[in-house]
Amino acid sequence: MIHYQVVPESPEAHLFQLELRVDDPDPAGQCFWLPAWIRGSYLIRDYARHIITLEAECLGQPVSLEKLDKQTWRAQPCQGSLRISYRVYAWDLSVRGGHLDTRHAYFNGPCLFLAVAGREQEPCRLSLKAPAGVGYGAWRVATGMPVEAVDERGFGDYLSSDYEALLDYPVEMGEFESVVFNIDGIAHRIVLSGRHDGDLERLADDLGKVCRQQIALFGELPVSSYLFLLWVVGDGYGGLEHRNSSSLLCSREDLPHVDRREASEGYRRLLGLCSHEYFHLWNVKRITPEPFLQADTRQEVYTRQLWVFEGITSYYDDLALVRCGLIERDAYFELLAQTISQVRRGSGRLKQTLEESSFDSWTKFYKQDENAPNAIVSYYAKGALFALCLDLHIRLESKGAQSLDDVMGALWRAYGKPGVGLPEWGFERLASEVTGLPLAELFQLGVRSTRELPLARLLQPFGVEMHLLPARSPTDKGGVVQEPPERPRPQAVLGAATRQLAEGIQVNQVFDGGAAQRAGLAAGDLIIAVDGLRLTETQLQQRLARTPLGDRLPLHQFRRDELMELQLEACPAADDTCLIHFTDPPSRQQLQRLAAWLQSDDGAD
Ligand code: ZN
Repeated sequence: MIHYQVVPESPEAHLFQLELRVDDPDPAGQCFWLPAWIRGSYLIRDYARHIITLEAECLGQPVSLEKLDKQTWRAQPCQGSLRISYRVYAWDLSVRGGHLDTRHAYFNGPCLFLAVAGREQEPCRLSLKAPAGVGYGAWRVATGMPVEAVDERGFGDYLSSDYEALLDYPVEMGEFESVVFNIDGIAHRIVLSGRHDGDLERLADDLGKVCRQQIALFGELPVSSYLFLLWVVGDGYGGLEHRNSSSLLCSREDLPHVDRREASEGYRRLLGLCSHEYFHLWNVKRITPEPFLQADTRQEVYTRQLWVFEGITSYYDDLALVRCGLIERDAYFELLAQTISQVRRGSGRLKQTLEESSFDSWTKFYKQDENAPNAIVSYYAKGALFALCLDLHIRLESKGAQSLDDVMGALWRAYGKPGVGLPEWGFERLASEVTGLPLAELFQLGVRSTRELPLARLLQPFGVEMHLLPARSPTDKGGVVQEPPERPRPQAVLGAATRQLAEGIQVNQVFDGGAAQRAGLAAGDLIIAVDGLRLTETQLQQRLARTPLGDRLPLHQFRRDELMELQLEACPAADDTCLIHFTDPPSRQQLQRLAAWLQSDDGAD
């Protein structure tokens, strides 16, 4: 047994005090290490850089520690119980780190818990202590970690089966609110920390529907309790999945309110986020890529299948909302149209495949720079669209007898439930086996090539017509229209992402082949005048929209401190905006297919 103790020692200095005790250390000199990354977020974060002080003692005598690399230490050989004391700085406002102030304490295991090298399989006991001092008397603890012995506030001892498990239970301490709902006797608790005036009962009701939907898909719920740790801030968004909990960050305005019945866009997004993290309970926490099972979190681990875990999860997160009636059919297709537009707007989709995007997540997806739209494709967004293609293809080819739901159920039974890692070829092979369909061509196109996905062809038999047209306005992300859309008059656009500053228009990203790139604009440039006039971002968009295609406008800008004059040629907007409308009137077959897909009753007589 390895013993850990955490005290939020100096909330005002954002310092956790840690103690680690090993009763029979390696006589040759015990080594310790800290993870470089956290599971679910594929970026080297080097958590060890936040360790501020570190010392060791054995039977009351100081023991020297030698640092071997950025995250590994070796204690001088000693006999008897070895005690390591260290302080960790925690000021990361995200779900992937630790955050401590006088309002609350939050941490993920990889930030705090040194591993005892060679002893990673041993069970761990964690003692959680409340901060000393007045003002902390009402603090409580929320975590999914199994309890050994705690007081009524949750402080005391917790147990984890091994070091990897210890890392997978985030902890929240503070004065939080909570609400519980049960599914088949299994308690689901939502803990909200941070100021808010949300309607917790409604949140619990709605989340209950989402969870039941996901459980129905996989056929069983492999946990004895579940915890949503929701951290409410003024402006934030994020989530991270864990084995029996998830950490979520949302904006205050995203919560449902007692006086507002309709679901706001923010609330829809929050439900989608919760749905996403809950789906991960099966898909990635238990159905896990084989390379992940074999490796620890000291260095990068590579898989070509991240799209299976993030893309398929992204496909089902919103689908669950429409299937359980929390959003309407049109709202679902609005979200789908926006995802299609998002992927179509990056020429990176023509350069990077889904497998490559998965493999290079460490250095590309998680390290996006100004050129990202031209260089990479998201394994979330394109992964979700490929999952959609796969689902619709299976439904059509099997004449409605099968779907991606069957593949996911089989994936759970073959890999998740028995805890067998999913081999790199595993998903594709299982999908073919389960459905009995030849899927090689579709997989080749969707995950190993950069050709466009056959979305329009696959959606049409469901009564869903997809169109790609130029954006109707600078803020147009695509959506649902009631009539077949007409092609708008070709208008010129800048072909860059910009931001209005007091001094001018700042260029943030320049898109391949657009007017901005052809003129020679670059990220970071500051546009100060167009055709001799100072314009706002909106005025520039309007001016371009009424400039005949092919005409040139003189443009003045600063690159760093140098004034430059460029010629901006009016180039038309690309067909990168997805508009969806429904076949009118739909055939009976289309209605039935759509109803089966969305699990609605609309197709029934
Ligand atoms: Zn995810």
